[in-house]
Amino acid sequence: MKALVLTAPSTFEYADYPDPEIRNPDDVLIRIRAAAICGSDVHGMDGSTGRRKPPVIMGHEAAGEIAAVGRSVTGFKPGDRVTFDSTEYCGECEFCRRGEVNLCSNRKVLGVSCDEYRRDGAFAEFLVVPQRILYHIPKSLDFVGAALAEPSAVAAHAAAITPLKMGDTIAVVGSGLIGLLLIQILRAFSPGLIVAFDPDRERLKAAEKAGATAGFDPSNPAELEAAIGLTGKRGFDRVFEAVGATAPIQTALAAVRKGGSITLIGNVSPMIQLPLQSVVTRQISLLGSCATAGEYPLVLDLLASGKIDYASVVSAAAPLSEGAGWFRRLYAREKGLLKVVLEP
Ligand SMILES: [Zn+2]
Ligand SMILES: [Zn+2]
Repeated sequence: MKALVLTAPSTFEYADYPDPEIRNPDDVLIRIRAAAICGSDVHGMDGSTGRRKPPVIMGHEAAGEIAAVGRSVTGFKPGDRVTFDSTEYCGECEFCRRGEVNLCSNRKVLGVSCDEYRRDGAFAEFLVVPQRILYHIPKSLDFVGAALAEPSAVAAHAAAITPLKMGDTIAVVGSGLIGLLLIQILRAFSPGLIVAFDPDRERLKAAEKAGATAGFDPSNPAELEAAIGLTGKRGFDRVFEAVGATAPIQTALAAVRKGGSITLIGNVSPMIQLPLQSVVTRQISLLGSCATAGEYPLVLDLLASGKIDYASVVSAAAPLSEGAGWFRRLYAREKGLLKVVLEP
């Protein structure tokens, strides 16, 4: 098969690669039709994160058509249109049995190669995954939209673990891809106040299009104050942080009310500065949100019904053979580029 292989840090080859094979009876061979480039692929391709050690085929946000199934596969057959969890969880460990599959002790993320394991991903014509991580794609959803199920599920998981109540005021810090998907998901469930924070005006416009009540630049103290003013100066009940760095986390802390919660999704910086006293003396709950656990059916519905408008975040769909060039443009942080989907 053809695959986009990361052969050395920041170096790609679109090359022939051995076809993946069905090895276990519950394996499914998928002909990949769309695979989206994730920020973690772009950050990781230069070797800086230690999670994309070459050689590896990256790609964990994808959709395709089943080409063949192992002998014990029951719910799926050749020709079925499917997407899949980015986490290959074992289904047997203590955490999997509790339904916390995102915390699986034996988890492998597709398209990741690190010290512990190497698992090729979806920037290729074919991929084999176990049937337990598969989901059928609704009829009205195309492959590009279905490839967006993974980041949508990541956003939905953050909402799912947050103690949201009817009428809560909400702030989302960071209007990148996850922030924009999260705003659409929160808007599908709440008619209330949802404020977006981002220093980039273009992204704030996108956030308002996605359903945010209003967008503010948190680096401007007057704007931060104006945003908090919308809550009667109390602060937001629920704040989401979708960047993962000191400045946006401090924005989240400045915006949250006493006794409120901050759900942390972004993890760009391994270490941040945290104003500890503000957390402790105001009794703020900090919640870490990892990957997804059970949110695929929900987001596939939201994508199929248009409540998540995936076209609003997809900047381009291009042939897989042109993948290296798109990676370069994303790595260079070309303005206005959000999601790029590659089609093998
Ligand atoms: Zn991703
Ligand atoms: Zn497990």
